[in-house]
Amino acid sequence: MSGLFSLKGRRALVTGANTGIGQAIAQALAGQGAAVTCAGRRTCDETIALIRAAGGQADGLLLDFSNPMAAKDIFAGAGYDLLVNNAGIIRREDAVTHSEANWDAVVDVNMKAVFFTCQAFGRELIARGAPGAIVNIASLLSFQGGIRVPGYMASKHGVAGITKLLATEWAGHGITVNAIAPGYIATNNTEALRDDPDRSRQILERIPAGRWGTPEDIGGTAAYLCSPAARYVTGAVLNVDGGWLAR
Ligand code: NAP
Repeated sequence: MSGLFSLKGRRALVTGANTGIGQAIAQALAGQGAAVTCAGRRTCDETIALIRAAGGQADGLLLDFSNPMAAKDIFAGAGYDLLVNNAGIIRREDAVTHSEANWDAVVDVNMKAVFFTCQAFGRELIARGAPGAIVNIASLLSFQGGIRVPGYMASKHGVAGITKLLATEWAGHGITVNAIAPGYIATNNTEALRDDPDRSRQILERIPAGRWGTPEDIGGTAAYLCSPAARYVTGAVLNVDGGWLAR
């Protein structure tokens, strides 16, 4: 069937699109024909250039989620029908000393901003009577405790819960809400783990495919969840590497 995975005529916003997973998702969506706004706290010039060089459509938007309400006014009248909440941070510190500042910084960007960005996007679609899709980036730590990352773990459990709640509330409006829960992807976020030979070896032993994931692995999954092929998929929190099953 032609067009099952096409995003032609769709308008997408991807947060944290300057690097890593967000950059690959922006490229994947544009590759299927979406016009993609690459949002970041810094400019996304490299991503925009890569998309345009491949013949796609992209523009940029500055959004800093250290203010979790940063996206509240950006959707009205802007015509977006796809949203990928990818921006996220991690702070590693033992639970016994984990500071309030680290907790608040992580929970604000990774969870509070995700909910209120979804709210602003969903409110606009519902007012227009238009269908749409949201993809949130959760984590393997939406299912597990992890170590030394209390705020991150709490935020990613929260992202999974928010995804399920919104999927339930908005299915009747034709808005699908799903999350991708990556295991270990080679990006800035995991640089400290890959630089530690012991942790790196332990992690590799737990990935069923025997290799670190790539941002492109996640890009394709996000493009699928935004596509007509996934129009009846909602409320899913997908662990893509199978690592959850292996434990
Ligand atoms: P990354 O390369 O560090 O990318 C994180 C992105 O979030 C960057 O674009 C970053 O912008 C942006 N960001 C951080 N704080 C922000 C803020 N206050 N406002 C707006 N944007 C902000 O790491 P990544 O691995 O691609 O992470 C992307 C998502 O995947 C995150 O939600 C992360 O939790 C999730 N994830 C990653 C893994 C993994 O193994 N890598 C596993 C599970 C889940 P700057 O470049 O300006 O910092």
